[in-house]
Amino acid sequence: MTYDFVSQITSAWHPAFQSLAFLSLIPVFIMTRYLVVTGVFFAAASLLQKKAPSRRLQPQPFTREQIIREIGYSFSSAITFTAVVAAIIGMTQAGWTQIYSDPAQYGLWWFWLQIPVALLIQDFYFYWMHRAIHLPGFYEAAHKVHHLSTNPSSFSAFAFHPIEAVLEIGIFFVLIILMPLNVFALGITALLSLIYNAYGHMGYEIMPRFIAKSPIGWVLNKSAYHNQHHRTYKYNYGLYTTIWDRAFGTFHPDAEALYDRATRPPENKESPAGTVTA
Ligand SMILES: [Zn+2]
Ligand SMILES: [Zn+2]
Repeated sequence: MTYDFVSQITSAWHPAFQSLAFLSLIPVFIMTRYLVVTGVFFAAASLLQKKAPSRRLQPQPFTREQIIREIGYSFSSAITFTAVVAAIIGMTQAGWTQIYSDPAQYGLWWFWLQIPVALLIQDFYFYWMHRAIHLPGFYEAAHKVHHLSTNPSSFSAFAFHPIEAVLEIGIFFVLIILMPLNVFALGITALLSLIYNAYGHMGYEIMPRFIAKSPIGWVLNKSAYHNQHHRTYKYNYGLYTTIWDRAFGTFHPDAEALYDRATRPPENKESPAGTVTA
């Protein structure tokens, strides 16, 4: 759709300039989407600080320097993501991928099913990739930048070293070769990924207890858990789920208690707002 629009207004241009015009829109789109989504979560965090400060996961406030750094690295990731998208477009034009544009081509059931399938495969990939970049050497080279935020805000959702930025979406190179993926479903998957990342880094716990305490909630990763990862470095490596952390012994023993403390109704709280013991 965007491509058609750009094609129309640049139809008289040299093809090389047409491609350049289209490519230059990609980082603008990625950065705008990032600022809107993380901005909404940051605004929600600011509101919670006024209305429900006990949901804050660490006592210290976000700093101006931290937010500038997180946005700066996220913008650099947008450039890396653009290069990856350009590579995917090139691979698709060469016929190397199974990306398709008509949602009905493989049936609407597959259009919708491919989104959770892609998220689950990404979840498994992310867990092991994340553990690998915590190994000495790899950590300094690829992951230290993300952990500069020990008390992350939602703006750190894309705050990666370029190597990590490539690793983060590297799984999609494999997925688009292995299975038919619709271009719009890919867009929805990427948006859900950003939303979950912004939630995981927002510094406040907002998942309602009725979800968290359900069987699905037991599986879902939570902001409290990922915040704990940024503080402890060696637990809770998961992205969307806790399945792999629980299966491979890296789920923090006090993770659920941390969630409970942040979401307990005020009259039942045993410890003051923002107190962190786990
Ligand atoms: Zn993180
Ligand atoms: Zn980490």
